[in-house]
Amino acid sequence: MLLSHWEYESFFKSLDIVVLGSGIVGLSAAISLKEKHPNLNVAVVERSFLPYGASTRNAGFACFGSISELSDDLEHSSESEVLAVAELRFRGLKKLRRRLGDKAIQYQELGGMEIFRSADKKEFEKYADSIPYFNELFSEITGKADTYRLLDQQAGTRFGFRQVDQIILNTAEGQIDTGEMMKSLLTMAQRLGVLFFNGLNIESVEDNGKSVSLNTDMGWSFSTPRLLVCTNGFASKLFPELDVLPARNQVMITAPVKNLQVRGCFHYDRGYFYFRNVGDRILVGGGRHLDFGTEQTSEFGSTPVIQEALTSLLSDVILPNQQFEIERSWSGIMGLGKVKKPIIKKITPNITVAVRMGGMGIAIGSIVGELGTELAL
Ligand SMILES: Cc1cc2nc3c(=O)[nH]c(=O)nc-3n(C[C@H](O)[C@H](O)[C@H](O)COP(=O)(O)OP(=O)(O)OC[C@H]3O[C@@H](n4cnc5c(N)ncnc54)[C@H](O)[C@@H]3O)c2cc1C
Repeated sequence: MLLSHWEYESFFKSLDIVVLGSGIVGLSAAISLKEKHPNLNVAVVERSFLPYGASTRNAGFACFGSISELSDDLEHSSESEVLAVAELRFRGLKKLRRRLGDKAIQYQELGGMEIFRSADKKEFEKYADSIPYFNELFSEITGKADTYRLLDQQAGTRFGFRQVDQIILNTAEGQIDTGEMMKSLLTMAQRLGVLFFNGLNIESVEDNGKSVSLNTDMGWSFSTPRLLVCTNGFASKLFPELDVLPARNQVMITAPVKNLQVRGCFHYDRGYFYFRNVGDRILVGGGRHLDFGTEQTSEFGSTPVIQEALTSLLSDVILPNQQFEIERSWSGIMGLGKVKKPIIKKITPNITVAVRMGGMGIAIGSIVGELGTELAL
């Protein structure tokens, strides 16, 4: 469809709803809208030619909680709140897999593992003691009696790690190819008749009670009856009052490694570092805690302090005594807040937000998108 820019005005008015942002949440929301209401006119507006936030730049962990992450969460929130978010993640992953199919997103249930080195002995003992508690808590969600269990002490050596003494396995976690996931979501949305407008950077929005006006950075505006905002880490640019802080995460991937023994997703140091195999390569990321101040930004980029920490983790722990080459590194922007829970709420009668994925949007995004649409309509 080719419209001259003054024709956009009346075109957007004829839509039923605009979804802002084409990450996993925006695409899932658009799909949910068309699945439930096939006749609805739905458009997705995106500032970039491709989704440009976190969904195309993440690590592909299909995870709902390691024991150290959950224990940390329990220090700030109640048991029922922590469990509710974990359940949302589990349900979100199920929905994503059902919607797209395991083959399309290359889902592999190789487990999620948390590694502990000799210096982490005390921490490990604390977490190991709480395995029965978490198994009891999660049995209703996963349907498994032993969601968490200890691996034998030789497991670290079998993976080829150096000085990894203990590993706690989450048996119900897996990994996906998020590039394939985004491609499939986009194709599905297009097939259902969702319209896409890329290259429209929205600088501000106003609800006049009857419609919402979207003001672009090119100096012209258009309006739509309803708006669902799915801009995650960038949400506070439009709504400064929201508790959403941008948080950058840096990632790198190696060239193929000969005889790689690592299989599965791994967390280290309370989940601040993470790595997994991508075929015969290692993807490693995280390290935000080494420089929180600098990483609280919506600017993409890399810093020596974190790149060096990730490279050291590769050479000291993951691939000791092995030659490896860093093939590529990149970053993405997450949306965090004081509470580890998405914000799904109406800001005005015609503007709804579904943001703050807290670094778990691949897991939670499909459900959050759907819940956002239920509120928006
Ligand atoms: C490096 C990294 C690794 C991660 N690893 C994992 C993982 O392994 N597992 C997991 O579950 N989660 C992971 N996450 C988190 C996950 O990727 C995010 O939570 C999720 O992708 C958020 O999806 P979203 O659709 O809400 O936001 P995004 O994917 O960020 O999409 C928001 C979109 O909105 C657009 N936009 C923003 N502002 C505007 C505007 N004003 N006008 C128009 N368009 C706008 C952006 O261009 C962007 O395309 C990771 C994140 C990062 C950065």
